[in-house]
Amino acid sequence: MISPSTDPFLAPYAIHEETSKGRKYREKSHSFRGEFQRDRDRIIHSAAFRRLQYKTQVFVNHEGDHYRTRLTHTLETAQIARTIARALHLNEDLTETIALAHDIGHGPFGHAGEWALRDLMKRHGGFEHNQQCLRIVEHLEESYPDFPGLNLMYETLEGLKKHPENFYKNRKPRFRSLESELVDIADEIAYNSHDLDDGLRSGLVREEHLSDLGLWQDVWKYIKRKYPKHPALKKRRLAIRLIINTLVVDCVQTTQARIKRLGIKSLKDVQAVTRQVVGLSEVKKRQHVELKRFLYKNLYSHSRVVRMTQKGQRFLEALFRAYLKTPKVLPRDVQIRAKKEGIHRAVCDYIAGMTDRFAQDEYDRFFEPYERLA
Ligand code: MG
Repeated sequence: MISPSTDPFLAPYAIHEETSKGRKYREKSHSFRGEFQRDRDRIIHSAAFRRLQYKTQVFVNHEGDHYRTRLTHTLETAQIARTIARALHLNEDLTETIALAHDIGHGPFGHAGEWALRDLMKRHGGFEHNQQCLRIVEHLEESYPDFPGLNLMYETLEGLKKHPENFYKNRKPRFRSLESELVDIADEIAYNSHDLDDGLRSGLVREEHLSDLGLWQDVWKYIKRKYPKHPALKKRRLAIRLIINTLVVDCVQTTQARIKRLGIKSLKDVQAVTRQVVGLSEVKKRQHVELKRFLYKNLYSHSRVVRMTQKGQRFLEALFRAYLKTPKVLPRDVQIRAKKEGIHRAVCDYIAGMTDRFAQDEYDRFFEPYERLA
């Protein structure tokens, strides 16, 4: 078997398999698959991962087939993350695993779903999708006879603990990796650019609204000069592609320069740094934040988007209360967990695991008088 550290491709500050802290429950190694490869495969084969296909990113699933879902968002994030990881000689398998798993803790109906569960769980231990992601991979997935959850590698689990950008200034995490940091950036690059694309596609955002956005203006000027006769749709697609590329290239160059400046030569050096290492240059960061703010104001708070997602929030609240009132309607495994962890946590896990579609069907089964039960 080729071991990663004998692979001259990996940088010394990357995560190497043989210096890993390994898994909580010991397992035999596989004859030709590396440990982080196995982690990635466990995520892909998990039920939580499959359900991403019917979970809302911004547009509720039945609004149209061309909008991003959590699954396509996840795949775009993984693609961007792998590109950056490979360019920086970081561990691509670990990066891909973290990227593929990063959103599996989200409930149905996007942010509205998150707010609903957070409110409902306020006095019962709370709800937060990153925490939920860890709960899924450590407890809730039941696929293996010898251990609960997916028994992922230590570095994968630590990589799934998302830290806000200024986290490193105030606290020292028990472990950090550049692989994990880069997935955060890849996630942001993916959603800012594809939400802009979906916003334009839906007509909720129009090209003339974008005149103050530096990131858009730079690529748009170039496209208009180079392809003046290109149809509008193709121009838009090209613009989104160029924005992603600009940010990815900037991230790779900025990070390479920082690694050099901070004198990072080993994983130990990575642990000692008190600032974010993977990131964008000041100019691109400012433009990226500008785009993020624009999307908040013009897309996420648009009355049509709010209306779509508010409906979801109401479904979830009604379902939550109905389950609390009559726990006997819950599936057996949820009832068993309720005995161990309390009814609120068990119902929260159950609802958080639902797709938009399942939650809507379940709502009908509960509240529509003519709906059949089976
Ligand atoms: Mg995400």
